[in-house]
Amino acid sequence: MTNDHYDIVIIGGGPVGMALAIALHNTDASVLLLEARGIPEEVGDPRPLALSYGSQLILRRLGVWDRLTQKTPITSIHISNKSSLGQTLITPEDANVPVLGYVVSYFDLYRSMYQELAKKPTDNIDYIAGATVTQLETSDNLGTVYFDYQGREVKIDARMLVLADGGKLTQFIPDIVYKTQDYQQCAVIANIRAEKKQVGVAYERFTSDGPIALLPNKEDFALVWTAPSSVAKEICEFDDVTFLKCLHHHFGDRLGQFVATGERSAFPLMLKYASSITAQRMVLIGNAAQTLHPVAGQGFNLGLRDAYELSRAVSSMHNTINKIGTSAMLTKYSEKRKIDSYGGMIFTDMLIKLFSDEHALLKSACGLGLSALDCVSPLKRFVSRRMIFGAGG
Ligand SMILES: Cc1cc2nc3c(=O)[nH]c(=O)nc-3n(C[C@H](O)[C@H](O)[C@H](O)COP(=O)(O)OP(=O)(O)OC[C@H]3O[C@@H](n4cnc5c(N)ncnc54)[C@H](O)[C@@H]3O)c2cc1C
Repeated sequence: MTNDHYDIVIIGGGPVGMALAIALHNTDASVLLLEARGIPEEVGDPRPLALSYGSQLILRRLGVWDRLTQKTPITSIHISNKSSLGQTLITPEDANVPVLGYVVSYFDLYRSMYQELAKKPTDNIDYIAGATVTQLETSDNLGTVYFDYQGREVKIDARMLVLADGGKLTQFIPDIVYKTQDYQQCAVIANIRAEKKQVGVAYERFTSDGPIALLPNKEDFALVWTAPSSVAKEICEFDDVTFLKCLHHHFGDRLGQFVATGERSAFPLMLKYASSITAQRMVLIGNAAQTLHPVAGQGFNLGLRDAYELSRAVSSMHNTINKIGTSAMLTKYSEKRKIDSYGGMIFTDMLIKLFSDEHALLKSACGLGLSALDCVSPLKRFVSRRMIFGAGG
């Protein structure tokens, strides 16, 4: 770090903040990326991420795609509802794309982004790991961040602050409040081996306890098992044999018995979204703007589009860098993101509520809905393209 003033300070160098920093590399803006954790080589996170084909295109443009060491293509998605009829299969042909998406690991993505950022000539991007932002302030013309770095407090000014911290620091922004819905659920994740080998098929099965997803992970599956928080704790504590039996009972026999499991971890789930994604000299992106239930694998995909669209808004100002962070720029960006962001939130929240309702009539209606999706190609195309590319379809 050589300056005490930047055009843009990004707070939070998770995958979304990091994607923004990489995307800003080709602009005239000076950028500082602050990340509280150590550099990604030192940080593990076991969660699997299903990336849509749309995200693949963005990551390719950012130079990150070819760096990913593990990526399993998703060639079809099988969706069903436990204890009711009705199912559907989505294929690349339905959405008119070469592949529906890929399953990668959060950690591999994070590390690949870091490698790409580190490789770029650093004339306009500074990156500091181990820097924890403690306070934010804004005025008409400036945003200011205070952060702890190597035992001292540092103060930096910027035309625009970007909050990509997952939403912890919004307490310092009086204009923004979060609306939250605690689903009282956790996602239990683990790598699973099934008796029947299948490569490329993703399974999403709705149950009254919450959805269960088995995502292709080479020849195995990455499990995302949603359950009420107290049940999730028990599931994590089961011995392996009991756990695999329980999973088989819950998921059904489509893949035969489950024969091996990796380590299990649990993530609490909630819907959380900001009343506004912009404030004076400030933008919220990724989980800081909206944290979704992982049911449809939309969270990171949406956050990546936030980052990409924000970088485009900045590059469109190449001769007018002093306009970065002005209310005109922020309003335009916020308007552009509205439909995509609300679409993702409403879609995932609706899936959770509809499919976990025990009412017999509603259960049948959901089954019918899946069958209708299966039979009506234009509907299937509409839904699948929105899942892949966001509201733009
Ligand atoms: C079980 C599970 C499965 C999921 N599966 C999918 C999926 O299949 N597909 C999908 O698209 N999404 C999925 N998601 C969602 C996805 O993980 C998130 O949307 C994504 O990680 C958000 O990235 P982010 O960079 O916005 O936030 P985060 O990943 O939370 O990163 C925030 C970063 O900010 C840093 N930070 C925080 N506070 C400070 C501070 N004060 N100062 C400096 N730095 C700070 C943190 O250290 C962190 O690195 C899943 C989520 C879960 C829980």
